[in-house]
Amino acid sequence: MKKITIAIDGFSSTGKSTLAKQLANHLGYVFVDTGAMYRAVTLFAMQHGYMSADFFDKKSLVNSLPFIKLVFKFNADLGYGEMYLNDVNVETEIRKIEVSHFVSKVAEVSEVRSKLVEQQQEMGKDKGIVMDGRDIGTVVFPDAELKIFMTSSPVTRAQRRYDELIAKGDVITFEEVIENVVERDYIDSHRKDSPLVMADDAIEIDNSHLDREEQFQLVLDLVNECTKSL
Ligand code: C5P
Repeated sequence: MKKITIAIDGFSSTGKSTLAKQLANHLGYVFVDTGAMYRAVTLFAMQHGYMSADFFDKKSLVNSLPFIKLVFKFNADLGYGEMYLNDVNVETEIRKIEVSHFVSKVAEVSEVRSKLVEQQQEMGKDKGIVMDGRDIGTVVFPDAELKIFMTSSPVTRAQRRYDELIAKGDVITFEEVIENVVERDYIDSHRKDSPLVMADDAIEIDNSHLDREEQFQLVLDLVNECTKSL
């Protein structure tokens, strides 16, 4: 069957990566979580003292971009690629709330975006890819055959992220998580470069009342319809 490009965008914690992973495994496609790339650049900035609560040395981060190497290495046990920053596995660290606090500020920087978008386009040049993020259907792959835009209520999303973090052993309050989700969505939707907007030709899915399996089946039907019409 002809391979397509599947772009999944949407608000924070709408389950984009979970859906993208399920689809990629089922279809034998490559899965790319572009949020992990922005998170890894943020971790680099934090490790080098380029950002803290009230300080962000954008210039130093931009000058360091040639020295930031991001690679997804496939982990057969997990069934997806883990993020390596300069050859170090940072998969656990980049998911922490400290990184979530800063990531949207890093994602506003155009030089960061163009470096990551170029790498993302290279990864998807042969199609057969499911990529999730905020600008995949609008900027990275505007010609993607299937574009999904995921939404759900802020409370549902915060609850999902909170449960995930608690399961990983993080010490955190629900209020902190919901505040972060709402703040990131605001910055992501209002930035100048590649804001989070639904592509005109995307299909919106509100999954507030859908479970994982229902959502997967719904999107799989869309994939089948799409590949049949090629
Ligand atoms: O998907 P995730 O929540 O891990 O993404 C973290 C952050 O990375 C987002 O809040 C957003 O600021 C940024 N991002 C982006 N463009 C993408 C993917 C993520 O700006 N394609």
